[in-house]
Amino acid sequence: MAEICLLGTGGMLPLKNRYLTSLYAEYNGKAVLIDCGEGTQVALSHHGLKMSRIEIILITHCHADHVTGLPGLLLSIGNCSRTEPLDIYFPESAEKILKNIMSVCGALPYEVNLHKLPERSFTAFTADKIDPMLMISTIPLEHSVNCLGYKLILSKKPVFEPDKAKALDIPVKYWKTLHSGLSVRLDDGRTINSSDVTGECRQPLNITYITDTLPIDSIKGFAEGADLFVCEGMYGDISKKQAMNEKGHMLMQDACRIAVQANVKRLWLTHYSPAETEPEIYEEELKNIFNNVSISHDGDKINL
Ligand SMILES: [Zn+2]
Ligand SMILES: [Zn+2]
Repeated sequence: MAEICLLGTGGMLPLKNRYLTSLYAEYNGKAVLIDCGEGTQVALSHHGLKMSRIEIILITHCHADHVTGLPGLLLSIGNCSRTEPLDIYFPESAEKILKNIMSVCGALPYEVNLHKLPERSFTAFTADKIDPMLMISTIPLEHSVNCLGYKLILSKKPVFEPDKAKALDIPVKYWKTLHSGLSVRLDDGRTINSSDVTGECRQPLNITYITDTLPIDSIKGFAEGADLFVCEGMYGDISKKQAMNEKGHMLMQDACRIAVQANVKRLWLTHYSPAETEPEIYEEELKNIFNNVSISHDGDKINL
């Protein structure tokens, strides 16, 4: 089971009661962080999460509201006595800015591995450090600078069925190995395959994170069937649409339409403009487009 927390819901600038958009996803005691605006390390602490568990940081793009929290977070993690390497993934053209931002950290007590990601094509890689069954994939977005959306796909092992194991007279000491997907050879010479004692394959968990982009068509396929779709909704005020599109952003209503087209299970809106101090006022209208939309708030959590 994965524990997800939306650390902040603000875009551009933090407000008194609103940190900047960032997502924390923990699985088996290890976590992925997506984006790191100023104060992210404070938001982690505020929401009761352990920054020492972060193994991978994914950066969507190098605008201040998504990266300037990195020095503070990296230094805070250093204060937690971390010595194991930490990985940061980002759009390839952001390398210079990222290195400049991180240079203020000085020497850290652990290694930071930087990984450049293609900006014009989809890509995917396995997050072995967290779990070999966790895949991270990216989508090129349409913003004023190169920007990536991310999808966390966590494959699930099929359910172990003890009744099948008992019927085959398999000693309990082999059950864990069989559930992990391996075969075993019993003392009586029989070979038992994992599929002999497990149920049907389960749908992988899909968490899709999209922010700072025009509502481009490709998001629909990328977010298809997501268990949780976290998407920017910069404004609910549709009179802002043209000005907002010129800056490469989308409306809350755009995000809801994508959620419908992509057939996602739930949508959490985020990255509100500082001018949208009460995004809740749009909730009723938005539910008419996509019923399972949440006007998310800082600290919203879900176990999936
Ligand atoms: Zn932003
Ligand atoms: Zn931006």
